[in-house]
Amino acid sequence: MKQLSTTIEVIGFIRSCFTEKFGIPRQPGLAPSAVARLQLIEPFNRREMVRGLEAFSHVWVQFLFHQAVADGWKATVRPPRLGGSQRKGIFATRSPHRPNFIGLSAVKLEKITFVDGVILELSGVDLLDGTPVLDIKPYLVSGDRIEDANDGWVPQKSVDFTVRFVKEAAMFCERYQENTGNCLSALIREVLVQDPRPSSQREHKDEFGMLLFGVNVRWRIENDICTVLSCEQKLS
Ligand code: SAM
Repeated sequence: MKQLSTTIEVIGFIRSCFTEKFGIPRQPGLAPSAVARLQLIEPFNRREMVRGLEAFSHVWVQFLFHQAVADGWKATVRPPRLGGSQRKGIFATRSPHRPNFIGLSAVKLEKITFVDGVILELSGVDLLDGTPVLDIKPYLVSGDRIEDANDGWVPQKSVDFTVRFVKEAAMFCERYQENTGNCLSALIREVLVQDPRPSSQREHKDEFGMLLFGVNVRWRIENDICTVLSCEQKLS
């Protein structure tokens, strides 16, 4: 077969509320309060390139799992949704550790702004801050929604926890929302009900920490109750 050669170019970068991998939901839409901006870069930051896109509620974003590249790709992986106990072929999973490291997420398109270049405001993302983006396409209900599809080996429902905040943490979230407009408490709840703990640490009653919007959120899970212990702005 004749070899075809082309160059894939990065068209923009994600600035997201997730500045580290720990805590990022496993798929888009699981945390509707997870927001991001997709900033297009030259020569793809032309207004006409997104003409008509504002008519769509959701977009497909194709991107590079840039933080998986250093670890290389794997033929099989242990999906966290199966508790890490079973191996599946990489092409039977949505794992970042795939040949070419290409990811695909359908996310909500909140709006497009042109004040500071071309920026797509997104929500419901499962994308790390700094993620390079390769392409954007409108999500089509008529073509993309498949009524009789199934979820294969993926369990129907993730664990559900009751999430509680200690008083100081709740007050921090209120102030944070007043100052930034970002609903940190909703994002914390949406992330924690997914149980972001690695499967090897689910039995531990340790305290965990994660960064959301640059805020260090500390929490603990005991008897299906997740308590948010503290929220503290990380100094950069
Ligand atoms: N929806 C996409 C897909 O199916 O291709 C991503 C699914 S993947 C299971 C989601 C996980 O990828 C997140 O929980 C996060 O840990 C990781 N992730 C997100 N952005 C990444 C990036 N730029 N580099 C490496 N890992 C990333």
